[in-house]
Amino acid sequence: MDIKDLIDFLEIKSTSGDEEDASIWIYNYLKKHNWDANLIEIDEGRYNVTCNLNSKVLFCSHIDVVPPYFPPTEEDSIISGRGSSDAKGVVLAQIWAANKIVEEGILQKNEIGYAYLSGEELDHLGAKKLGEMDFTCDVSIVGEPTENKMCEFGFGLLKLEITAEGKTGHSAFPDSGHSANHDLVGLLASLGQICGNKEGIGSTIYNIGIISGGVAANVFAPKAVATVLFRLVEPSDDVLRKLDQLLKTYPRITYKVLSRFEPITLTTIEGFPKTVARFNSDAKYLLGRSKRVMLFGPGDIRVAHGPKEFISKESIEEGIQRYVDVVKSLTK
Ligand SMILES: [Zn+2]
Repeated sequence: MDIKDLIDFLEIKSTSGDEEDASIWIYNYLKKHNWDANLIEIDEGRYNVTCNLNSKVLFCSHIDVVPPYFPPTEEDSIISGRGSSDAKGVVLAQIWAANKIVEEGILQKNEIGYAYLSGEELDHLGAKKLGEMDFTCDVSIVGEPTENKMCEFGFGLLKLEITAEGKTGHSAFPDSGHSANHDLVGLLASLGQICGNKEGIGSTIYNIGIISGGVAANVFAPKAVATVLFRLVEPSDDVLRKLDQLLKTYPRITYKVLSRFEPITLTTIEGFPKTVARFNSDAKYLLGRSKRVMLFGPGDIRVAHGPKEFISKESIEEGIQRYVDVVKSLTK
């Protein structure tokens, strides 16, 4: 572990869509450590960095970070900077762990692979392109900041645009129109009813992210629209079925599915601390290529996209050891 390398990596801006310099940096870093890395173009000026994809253990994470960029600083045992937790600290912890795994003779160099992907925070383009490649690996370890706890479950996602149609009219005369706002607010207040539970994991949660509707306080709203994002513990069809049922009370409301993906079950190992992933990741794209998919790494998701993103050296050290221990127990 050489923290200076992490600071160098954090000096490179790699906001989603602008990952080129950081992907070249990782490519050169792997080469420097005698890994047979490749740069794979996924779009103009955007690359995945891969190595030994047909491996026993594939370390995978992402190169891109969310905006806005801020440069790294080191204070005592804390490294701050955009991407420190999510996921540049994770990427280097994986490479440092892999070097150790080889040094300790747990695996040979040709049994370990890497996939460092572009676009995770934006469009998952790197992961989609990786999923289209022809390879299989035994286990992939997707690195995200989970405080080194192994995720046993990844929430699914369902994003809806819900539209209520009303009839404009003077609000002093209730029979002169129909308020789309009233319908929409009524429906939104009932959404808790359509969220299911999964034992040991919790319940589907939702956020009403955007609401708009109406033209004036004394006019019935002709139209109202909301964007709602569900994080799912159940199949998205189950939520939509319950929503359809609820909409029988609101015949003027329709919805459009903007995006969705299903919840996933991940591999964990007995004896290691566990958690669940409420956030989105590239893990689902590995399921078709990897017999088992794990998701964990150093850093903390709660600071990950924030204005003071940081990672502690202690978390990185623990992460390196956790990766080594997990690979050791996989190869027993
Ligand atoms: Zn991430």
